[in-house]
Amino acid sequence: MDAEELIRKCEAITLQSEEDNMISFGRNMKVRGERLVAHCLVGKILQTRSVPREGLRAAMQQAWRTTKEMKVESLRDNIFIFKFASESEKKRILFGGPWHFDRSLMVVTEPMGIGDVKKQDFTHAPFWVQIHNIPIMCMDKEIIQEIGGRIGKVQEVETNDAGECMGSFVRVRIMVNVTRPLPKRLLLKLEDGGQISLRIAYEKLPDFCFCCGLIGHRYRECIDYKGQSKDDLTYGAWMRAQTRAERARQARDKDRGNGDKEPSNTVPGSQEQQEQIRKNTGRANPDENGGGSKSTQTNMGTSSNPMRDSQVEEVGGGALNGERLKQIDCNKFAAKT
Ligand SMILES: [Zn+2]
Repeated sequence: MDAEELIRKCEAITLQSEEDNMISFGRNMKVRGERLVAHCLVGKILQTRSVPREGLRAAMQQAWRTTKEMKVESLRDNIFIFKFASESEKKRILFGGPWHFDRSLMVVTEPMGIGDVKKQDFTHAPFWVQIHNIPIMCMDKEIIQEIGGRIGKVQEVETNDAGECMGSFVRVRIMVNVTRPLPKRLLLKLEDGGQISLRIAYEKLPDFCFCCGLIGHRYRECIDYKGQSKDDLTYGAWMRAQTRAERARQARDKDRGNGDKEPSNTVPGSQEQQEQIRKNTGRANPDENGGGSKSTQTNMGTSSNPMRDSQVEEVGGGALNGERLKQIDCNKFAAKT
């Protein structure tokens, strides 16, 4: 028997063996499997450090306030499977994001198809995005929908009781692609050739890189970081927006005469401050209430010192010509009015 014949025989044996081990995924298995998948979510935590399963389970159980015990299993590469007691609970979590652990974003999604996680992508997460500097002529739900669509798929445009989007900024819930640098501005081109820069800020924004704008690492870990001052980086804590609750709390503090003081329950915006707190307290994530075990959970605060629009313009002014700046042609909007 020559070598080639031997190889052919071995391949035949292997094929025969694989066929013997083949399992048909039949209807009964499918029904049971679908029932299981209906109660599950998969989540990937975008951080370079390894996430402990038990720590994650305890933190998320508390954050999600699940009525019954939730099961968590580690798959690989900071990917976890969460099994809930009910489908309704699962949906509440799925649509309630963005979620965070250890100040890092956890992209939560439903298992795709049969639940082969290797084929699952974790590329998009929902954020309430604030778009600032919107001219009055564009404060229309349909126009805002189109503007928001330049950032990602729009899920919802916040309106007042009259169905309008009037205000100093508009809030749009958007599925943001977290594998790309976060958009920080949109450019509105006017019919007369003028341009308006629309600043974008994100509520509950987790740690992200002030250098390259990606979520998942901090600027000191970035391969693009060349040791420059934090203030000279392209992105910054000013991209974190206050939530409605945070604004209300700040207003209350101001009413009480504490407006000039930094509220003790806000999350410091600078990465150095966050690092210092980690070192001092051993807590992974200083939470809004200053509570211990809540510290690794989800709803992140915003910078305690969000920059005003004018300051933002100054910081990010160079971005007007930046390659990541997106442009919107406003001509048709103007033509509609
Ligand atoms: Zn980076």
